[in-house]
Amino acid sequence: MDLKGKVAIVTGGATGIGRAIVQKLASLGATVVINYNSSKTASEELVNELTSQGHTVDCIQANVSKFAEAEKLINYTVEKFGRVDILVNNAGITRDNLIMRMNEEDFDQVIEVNLKGVWNLSKHVSRVMMKQRSGKIINISSVVAIMGNVGQSNYCASKAGVIGLTKSLARELAKRNITVNAVAPGFIKTKMTDVLDEKIVDQIANNIPLSRLGEPSDIANVVAFLASPLADYITGQVLNVDGGLVMQ
Ligand code: NAP
Repeated sequence: MDLKGKVAIVTGGATGIGRAIVQKLASLGATVVINYNSSKTASEELVNELTSQGHTVDCIQANVSKFAEAEKLINYTVEKFGRVDILVNNAGITRDNLIMRMNEEDFDQVIEVNLKGVWNLSKHVSRVMMKQRSGKIINISSVVAIMGNVGQSNYCASKAGVIGLTKSLARELAKRNITVNAVAPGFIKTKMTDVLDEKIVDQIANNIPLSRLGEPSDIANVVAFLASPLADYITGQVLNVDGGLVMQ
């Protein structure tokens, strides 16, 4: 897999899965723009770390749920690096609760970041990629979009929405040589799953055929594949990366 000469944007790229994706794409030769919302220090540290290894990496703050900020992120990248070949919509949040206890704000916030955020970035990058007549959009969904999950009605709805959005855009943009795919991680070791009780984690691992939680690098490897020319003939697909938790 060779991404030399490609320009990539990774939303929520300073932490967890996004961070691993940034590291992987940079290691394959891509120029990477890290988007963060609140993790300024972690972003700058990652830029310094990768720059000192000889990679071209930059970072910019933008709240993906805001239409104008998403546009700013795309425009910044085009002005600085001339194009956008790869967009990884990775930014996401959880606000878990049972429906009886979940308030309207928790529902709206999760939809705004996880679903509207993906639409905002896709809308603005489409203009650039359509002109280029090439591009790869990779959206991070979740296996709970398919399975459902107690206490995550907002999150599961947002991630299922991402799958519908992925398939629609794959159909709309295919004629311009733009592929749109989703990756659906299972349970991956990041700060999002750190909050889970050790007993629950053991129970989860027991239900996974490969008997372990995933590492952020497990997701990054698949994203790199979908971003590479090896995946030129794949579009509108959802790739589950979950140790076999969901088999369709
Ligand atoms: P994480 O470390 O909490 O990462 C979430 C990232 O999203 C953070 O870098 C955060 O940036 C960014 N973000 C949140 N709100 C944002 C906003 N409004 N604008 C821009 N960026 C924003 O958790 P993670 O596990 O790596 O999650 C990455 C993605 O994988 C998410 O979409 C998540 O839903 C998905 N996922 C995770 C798992 C899992 O088991 N961990 C499973 C399935 C799917 P700041 O820190 O800068 O605010």
